[in-house]
Amino acid sequence: MTRSFMPDFTTKEELDAIQLSGLKWTVKHAYNGSEFYRQRFDETGVKPEDIKTLGDLRKLPFVTAQDLQEGYPWPLRSVPFDQIVRLHASSGTTGNRKIMVYTNKDIDDWADMFARCYEMAGLTREDRVQICVGYGVWTAGIGFQLGCERFGALAVPAGPGNIDMHMQFLVDFQPTVICATASMALLLAEEVEHRGLHDKINVKRLIIGAERASDAMRGKIRDLFGAEHVFDIPGLTEVYGPGTGLDCSHHCGIHYWADYYILEIIDPQTLQPVTDGEVGEMVYTTLRKEGAPLIRYRSRDLTRLIPGDCPCGSPLPTHGRITGRSDDMFIIRAVNIYPSHIEEILSRQEGIGSEYQIYLDRKDDGKDYMKIKVERSKNANPAKDAQVVGKAESELRKALLVKGSVELVDYNTLPRTARKSKRVFDNRE
Ligand code: ZN
Repeated sequence: MTRSFMPDFTTKEELDAIQLSGLKWTVKHAYNGSEFYRQRFDETGVKPEDIKTLGDLRKLPFVTAQDLQEGYPWPLRSVPFDQIVRLHASSGTTGNRKIMVYTNKDIDDWADMFARCYEMAGLTREDRVQICVGYGVWTAGIGFQLGCERFGALAVPAGPGNIDMHMQFLVDFQPTVICATASMALLLAEEVEHRGLHDKINVKRLIIGAERASDAMRGKIRDLFGAEHVFDIPGLTEVYGPGTGLDCSHHCGIHYWADYYILEIIDPQTLQPVTDGEVGEMVYTTLRKEGAPLIRYRSRDLTRLIPGDCPCGSPLPTHGRITGRSDDMFIIRAVNIYPSHIEEILSRQEGIGSEYQIYLDRKDDGKDYMKIKVERSKNANPAKDAQVVGKAESELRKALLVKGSVELVDYNTLPRTARKSKRVFDNRE
């Protein structure tokens, strides 16, 4: 019988027990092995033996990206160097790289987690997996590779490579699965179309990650390949690397590996947990990681937990897609607003394009006002502006619980930059 990488717990109580024992072990391990953690806990006045329930997690201090950068290169290292077998780095947007160290057991656990991704995506050992992400000090390629070999499918370690090579591999090796970033997957899909290779390839599933992709983009990738499924793979170097979860073929949310880490969703302002189902910042506490354990690590990524059970019957809980960064959040009239949420609401409105800007002003009455400038969609008729604006304003108010005015501008008049456009202009100070 083929080995399964799915967890063997079936109930919430069993999961809680796994999490509590992992939490106790992690806190003790970090306290005894890392000067950084010991100092932090001592400052906060918590000792490992104070952790008696899962709720006691909240007694522990947070760890931030800044802590990792200030303690460069190995602030969280909790074992002696003779037990460390590898390091990986993640790019910080500013300052030092974030470095994570791994023991042999950490590498082994990561392979099991990643093998679970392939199992969740419905692969069998007959599958052939063309891995089109980069290999190097970043965690991407090597994680996909490790998990594929552990799972027992055939890995084609193509890397980002050149497009001719990818096309040749697709035809010659008949891979059934492609792993890539969303933009790379789209590029490959368009090339398949362009070269008319549709009937010569055999791609059934795509696993894409590392960046946000709209439903339209996913649909296009799937259709151009003639594939059955596009799966979303989240992950971050601090939590081993990619492969911290995967959506199942029902695509109702991303199942996450709650037997390897605890996921808290907090309000980035108050640092308190949000209500179940509300958007907030993802905070990770690992349960088995030896080299560089994480305790309440603030990832800045935003998502929400999806309450209730998935129709697939898996006992693994689910979270939504990652919708943005908590650094982008602003507060207006005591409500936390994420630009990505506004973007999502606007994207559902007819007659509205994808470029927008948010202006925040404090007027003479002492109150804050929000104006959203958004482009008309490419061929929209300006005669319908009043109708489009009215609908958009009412949808925004319903979803955000705050009023904002919408102003339509001509298509292609707001600035477009290749990287990240500045969206929020806060003139309130
Ligand atoms: Zn499911």
